[in-house]
Amino acid sequence: MAHVISRRQLLGASALSAVSALAVMGAAGPSSPLRPARKSPTDRVPPRRETSTAPARTEVFWRVSTADKLVALTFDDGPDPRWTPLVLDALADHGAQATFFQMGDAVRAHPAVTEAVHPAGHEVASHSARHTDLTDLSYDELWDNLTLTHEAITDVTGTPPTLLRPPYGRIDSLGLFAAAELGYQVALWSHHLPTWDAEAKVDLDVATASPGTIILCHDGRGTPEEALYVAVRRLLSELTADGYAFVTVSDLLAASQSVAV
Ligand SMILES: [Zn+2]
Repeated sequence: MAHVISRRQLLGASALSAVSALAVMGAAGPSSPLRPARKSPTDRVPPRRETSTAPARTEVFWRVSTADKLVALTFDDGPDPRWTPLVLDALADHGAQATFFQMGDAVRAHPAVTEAVHPAGHEVASHSARHTDLTDLSYDELWDNLTLTHEAITDVTGTPPTLLRPPYGRIDSLGLFAAAELGYQVALWSHHLPTWDAEAKVDLDVATASPGTIILCHDGRGTPEEALYVAVRRLLSELTADGYAFVTVSDLLAASQSVAV
C-alpha cells in the first residue's frame, strides 16, 4: 500500500519551507541589498484627477508602421556646443532632418545651440531636465522636471515640444501620466548607433533599417566622439542611396496615419 501524505502534512511541510525561507531572508537583515525595502502597492500611482477633461492616454512607440521609405534619426543628451554643430553639419550635407531630445538644463545653459537646431527644420523634444531616472522621482518632482524642460524648449524655439524620451528609456505610471498631462507621446527607439565601435555597428543599422525605423544616437553628455559622426555620415549616405528619407519623429508619426491597419 502506497504511503499517502496527508494534506495536513503537506501544509505543515510548506509552512516549514516558508519559515525556512523567511529565516534565510531575515539573515540578510532588513537593510541588506539582498532584501530591498518593499514599496507600498500604491507608491507609484498617478495623482487622482476629478474632472472629465483630465488626460486619458498617451502612446509609447519604438518604431512607426509606414509604407513610405522614411526613417527618423534622433540625437539625445544635447544641446552641446561641441557635438551638436557637428551633427547639424552632417544633416545639412545630406538634406536630412532629425529630432533632438534635449535636456532642459542644457537648453538653458546653451540656448544658442538649440536656436541653431530648430530653424534648420529639425524637431526639438524633451529628454527631461537633467538626465534623472524618472522612475526615481515623485510626481511633483517629475512634473517640475518636465515642465522646466517644456518651458525652456518653448522659450528658445517658440514651439512647444510634443514628444518625450525618458532618460535610459525608463518610465513608469507616474511618468506616463505626466506625459499625458503635457500632451506628449513617448518616443523610444528601434535601432541604436552607439559611440563605441560605431563604424562597425553602423553596418548593422544600415542592413536592418526598414520603413519606420527610429535610430538613437547621442550629441551630448559623455558619450560622443568624432568617430560616431563619421559613422553617422555613412548611415546618412547609405540609407539615402537606398532610397530612404530622413524625417523628424513627428513627421514619421504623421506618415503612419496614412497606413491602413
Ligand atoms: Zn539620454
